[in-house]
Amino acid sequence: MLLHFFVDGDGAGKQFTWITASLHTVQAWEEGPHHARRLREWTRDFLKDRHHLPHTTAASWKTSVLEKPGLKEAICQHLQSVGKYVRAMDIVEFMADPEVQAKYGLEKTIGLSTAQEWMHELDYRWTKAPSGQYVDGHECSDVVDYRDNTFLLAMAKLEQYTQCFIDGEIVLFPDSESATSDSKRVVFWYHNESTFYAHDRRHTRWVHKSERATPRAKGEGASLMVADFVSAEYSFFRSPDGTESAWVLFRAGKNQDGYFTNQEIVDHATLAMDILERHYPNERHILIFDNATTHLKRRDDALSAHRMSANPTAPGKPMFGVDIDDLGPDGRPIYRPDGKKRKKRVRMGDAKFADGRPQSLYFEEGTERPGVFKGMRQILAERDIDTAGKLAQCPDFKCKAPALTCCVRRILYNKPDFRDTESILESHCNQRGFEVLFLPKFHCELNPIEQCWGHAKREYRKFPASSLEADLERNTITSLDSVSLTSIRRFFIRSLRFMDAYRHGLSGKQAAWAAKTYHGHQVLPNNILDELEKAGVSRE
Ligand SMILES: [Zn+2]
Repeated sequence: MLLHFFVDGDGAGKQFTWITASLHTVQAWEEGPHHARRLREWTRDFLKDRHHLPHTTAASWKTSVLEKPGLKEAICQHLQSVGKYVRAMDIVEFMADPEVQAKYGLEKTIGLSTAQEWMHELDYRWTKAPSGQYVDGHECSDVVDYRDNTFLLAMAKLEQYTQCFIDGEIVLFPDSESATSDSKRVVFWYHNESTFYAHDRRHTRWVHKSERATPRAKGEGASLMVADFVSAEYSFFRSPDGTESAWVLFRAGKNQDGYFTNQEIVDHATLAMDILERHYPNERHILIFDNATTHLKRRDDALSAHRMSANPTAPGKPMFGVDIDDLGPDGRPIYRPDGKKRKKRVRMGDAKFADGRPQSLYFEEGTERPGVFKGMRQILAERDIDTAGKLAQCPDFKCKAPALTCCVRRILYNKPDFRDTESILESHCNQRGFEVLFLPKFHCELNPIEQCWGHAKREYRKFPASSLEADLERNTITSLDSVSLTSIRRFFIRSLRFMDAYRHGLSGKQAAWAAKTYHGHQVLPNNILDELEKAGVSRE
């Protein structure tokens, strides 16, 4: 439009100057002279460098403010110190604090709608409750239960076989002379993915790892996704000579699915295990992944009592089973005329008796109704469990605690073969002798690689702006390489400090306070609860 006014003038033969043309343009947009000035700046920049395109203005200020060094962390820390429930208004108030304004060089305050957008971007930690308040994900009971009784327990058993680091130096490790096969030194490899944006210097947004790629706004630029593993022993994943690595880089633009699919994460783990087997066979390697849905994907025919009928399928009714993609001879899905994938129904896999023998969910050959689904009551009867007089399921399957044997579906649900179905990733790694752990949801502070990304992105922003894909890749790799082993070990110690805080029974809010107060320590003092009380830091 600017070009149109500049070239054609008022349409009646009168030529406009550059400034007049810009003013006419913004008038058509119902904007003021300030916008006209910006428009002229952008055009000049663009003429100097054809790769330099402006970004959408309204969103930019709000999101770019978040990129001020340390501000995002400060907001997170502030919210965490508020307690279990926070409101978007807490961010508005925090940002209006004169001290905060001065510290981060802010010129304006933010409105409630911006704060709400930011809360949305913080959803790796806060989930919106029906009340409109945001609840700290650290306090969800299923998450706490998994963290304390599964994850931290597993970590505690392994930690005695790991090395300790202070100021980046190894201070202690198990006596390798007396090492037997089950006291091999343990190495934790934390996995994660992160996306780097070409225009990350000025305008960017946070990308949550579970976020699916959405079509990118124009001007956001090319992006590159990086996935890697990191350990306190060896830094990022490399063979000793540095020639083999487990980097995975791909441009989100090419594969519209901006994040890893389950197959890709399995392939990535395979790559890592190949390198570990070849170069580090004398240690016990534990691969630690996020609790993301794609990581936890189970086999299509994995056991699930969810949709099972209590009794055998009635004659003439469709078979009970699972619907999977119908694949052609080339192994690719077949599509229907309406563009959707064609599905086919297959049997659910076998269950397992307590002694490990397989149990078919369908009547065996030679019986009266071979191939017909048995129903939950029959499946349990074959395990000598009598379900007479019990409901198929409690209303809406909302069983009251302790929910052990209240209804037929719950009984089956709690059986180990149904409850502990392994993910594809887990069984894939276990088959090759590698152990897998999944981090608790909402606890990114327990994954040291998150801080590695943060460190790398700060370095990344120092490179001169460029939209060229080659620059994007080179700059991304250089910035990741800039994360020193000493820094990585510091990040590991910080994560260990949080784990220790949760073991002491601290809430998310208290853990954040303790992690900050005992900066540099791997474990917290034993009288931490007294210290919290003295400092007046309550649970909520
Ligand atoms: Zn029940």
